[in-house]
Amino acid sequence: MSLVSTLVVLLLCAWCAILLVYRRRLLRLWREPMLAAPVLIIESDDWGPGPASHVAALERLIELLARHRDAWGRAAVMTIGAVLAIADTAAIRAGEISCYRRQRLCDSDGVAMREVLLAGRARGVLALQLHGMEHYWPQSLLTAARRDAEVRDWLETAAGSDTERLPSALQSRWTDVTTLPSRPLPEAEIRAAVAEEVACFETSFGTRPLVAVPPTFVWTEQVERAWAEAGVRVIITPGRRLTGRDRAGQPGGCDRDILNGERGAGGVRYLVRDLYFEPALGHRPERLCDELARHFALGRPALIETHRFNFTGEQAESAYAALETLLEQARARWPGLRFMSAEALAAGQATGAEWLVRDRARRLEVWLRRAARVDRLRKLAWLSGLALPAWALLAVLGAWRRGEEHG
Ligand SMILES: [Zn+2]
Repeated sequence: MSLVSTLVVLLLCAWCAILLVYRRRLLRLWREPMLAAPVLIIESDDWGPGPASHVAALERLIELLARHRDAWGRAAVMTIGAVLAIADTAAIRAGEISCYRRQRLCDSDGVAMREVLLAGRARGVLALQLHGMEHYWPQSLLTAARRDAEVRDWLETAAGSDTERLPSALQSRWTDVTTLPSRPLPEAEIRAAVAEEVACFETSFGTRPLVAVPPTFVWTEQVERAWAEAGVRVIITPGRRLTGRDRAGQPGGCDRDILNGERGAGGVRYLVRDLYFEPALGHRPERLCDELARHFALGRPALIETHRFNFTGEQAESAYAALETLLEQARARWPGLRFMSAEALAAGQATGAEWLVRDRARRLEVWLRRAARVDRLRKLAWLSGLALPAWALLAVLGAWRRGEEHG
């Protein structure tokens, strides 16, 4: 065998080895639903029992969203990660922090908030998702309050709705943070808590939750299974499952990474929310639109995280303006933009909606783009020369598609 043919064989062997090592990842990227249309979903968490100003903020958001329509006449949708109860801080103080007391959204004090959420749902601009009974595990809160001055101060001075002010680790609901690193909660307690929050959601809104958003994105397979058994079909994720808090109180314990459309315990479907729009923290619409472009080029939906605090805090005015600008710019840049709920997105992906890519050549193009975004694979591909045929194929597929689009 000549030197040239030996080198060619070695090169081909190297390429095969790379593809073999990454075969699972590549297969998952191929199976991940590919969207032919740009889909934009704004996901806003933490709304629940609170003062009248929070109700007014939602009323204003509903009007703002309703003004923006996609080409099919559908209004912009904001999914609401609903918190169903807050600490009744006055009652807990009166009991000298010996036992937990809550105010629920379905109690009489929650009427105005419930009504605005239901009105937004009826107009098709709000989609209600389960964030949790509380934004913490109540027993962890009580234990912390007995020994931590910061938490005791929160119980003594904060309205129960201000959970953003609690220490970060305490805001995770599905892990025991009484000591760090956190420990798993007993499964029986998880199941009871899930049954309770799902029932409370149904009492509050008249329907069972189909979509769940784990607070701080810390949850476990046990939680997932309990949700699935209670009727939850979709879990919003950041692209990986973090199961606890580490020694420093940071989210950790990743036990799987996640792509859109993959299945979890009990058959739940995952969606990935990995775009962030918190105007109060300085996030700008122009920058976000560039990130949307990158997502759409990969056939992925844009699930954008934004929290209640943007629209209820001191900088609320600029947050409304930024949201308005974002929706205007996105509609102008993508005339085929689609607004829908996370639930509708997951259902469409599962049942083969018309906005999915079916054409094999187009799927191959999207798949190559996705593969090129896998960090180490990209480096190895360039080092080994595998990137050259991939790049050439991508160029041919792109030219062919553009020819079809214009012809
Ligand atoms: Zn939250």
